[in-house]
Amino acid sequence: MADARAECSIRVLCRFRPFNDAEVRRGDLFFPTFQGDDTVVVGGKSYIFDRVFPTNTTQEQVYNTCAKQTVKDVLSGYNGTIFAYGQTSSGKTYTMEGKLHDEQQKGIIPRIASDIFNYIFTMDENLEFQIKDMNRVPYVKGCTERFVSSPEEIMDVIDEGKANRHVAVTNMNEHSSRSHSIFLIDIRQEHLETEQKLSGKLYLVDLAGSEKVSKTGAEGAVLDEAKNINKSLSSLGNVISALAEGSKVHVPYRDSKMTRILQDSLGGNCRTTMFICCSPSSFNDAETKSTLMFGQRAK
Ligand code: ADP
Ligand code: MG
Repeated sequence: MADARAECSIRVLCRFRPFNDAEVRRGDLFFPTFQGDDTVVVGGKSYIFDRVFPTNTTQEQVYNTCAKQTVKDVLSGYNGTIFAYGQTSSGKTYTMEGKLHDEQQKGIIPRIASDIFNYIFTMDENLEFQIKDMNRVPYVKGCTERFVSSPEEIMDVIDEGKANRHVAVTNMNEHSSRSHSIFLIDIRQEHLETEQKLSGKLYLVDLAGSEKVSKTGAEGAVLDEAKNINKSLSSLGNVISALAEGSKVHVPYRDSKMTRILQDSLGGNCRTTMFICCSPSSFNDAETKSTLMFGQRAK
C-alpha cells in the first residue's frame, strides 16, 4: 500500500487576539512584534508559521484565508481537521465559533455551515448529498448526531451540543472548563446516474486549554483529568509532528483517545489546519512561548 501521508497537508496558523479589559487595566505590555505575514517575534525569538494573524485580523479574513478552501476539499472527498490550540482565554472558541449569530463576529464553524450549502447549490443537480453532523466531548458519554439540510440546522446542532457539553462538564466537576470539544461534519455524495460515491469528513476541534496543571492548583480527580488532557494534547503534538516529518516516522495515533478518534482525518488524504491561539500580553509570556513552540513542532 502506498503511504497516504504523501497526500497529507498540514498548515499551522498563528492568531493573536487583542488585549482584553483586564490586561488593559493592569497596564500589561504588548508582547508580540509582527513581521510580514508569517512571522511573529516574542521575547527576542522569531516564530515562523504558514501565516500569522495579528490582533486586528477579522473573522472574515481568517475564514477566507484558511477555512474556505477546506470546505471545497471536503466536498472533493478529502478528510479535514481544523484545530484551535492555546491556553484558556487565548481565542480558541472565538476562532472556531465566534459569536454564533453575529454576521461579523461569527467564526469558522458557522461560516463553514453556510458555505457547504452555498457550494452544493452550485454543483451538478444529479448529485445527491447526505450531510450529518455530530458534537462530541471525549471522555464524556453522549453526543448529538443529526442529519441536516440547511445551515440553520447545523447551527441548531451546535447550540444543542453546547448545552449538552455544559451539562456533562458541570456533572463531572466544576473545574472542567478544560475539555475538548469535537464537532464533525460528515458529507456523502452520490451521483444519481453514475452511482459514483464520494465522502469527506471535517472535524472541527476546540481543544482544552493548554495551560500547565500546576497553574490551576488542581487536586485529586481534577488533577487526574488535567493530566489526561495534557497527555492528549502532547500526543496530538506527537502525531502532528510525526505527520509533518513524513513517511519514515511511526505515527503514534493510539496514544490517546482523541488521536484515535481523529485518526482517519489526521492521516490519509487529510487536510489539517492547526490554529495556534495566543494572548498578546506579557503577563502570559510563558504560556505564549510554550504555545508557539507547540506550533513550531508541527512545521
Ligand atoms: P478560549 O476559547 O481560548 O478560552 P475565547 O475564545 O473564549 O478563549 O476568548 C476569550 C475572550 O476574548 C472572549 O471574550 C472572546 O470574545 C475574546 N476574543 C478572543 N479572540 C478575539 C478576537 N480575535 N477579537 C476580539 N475578541 C476576541
Ligand atoms: Mg473556549
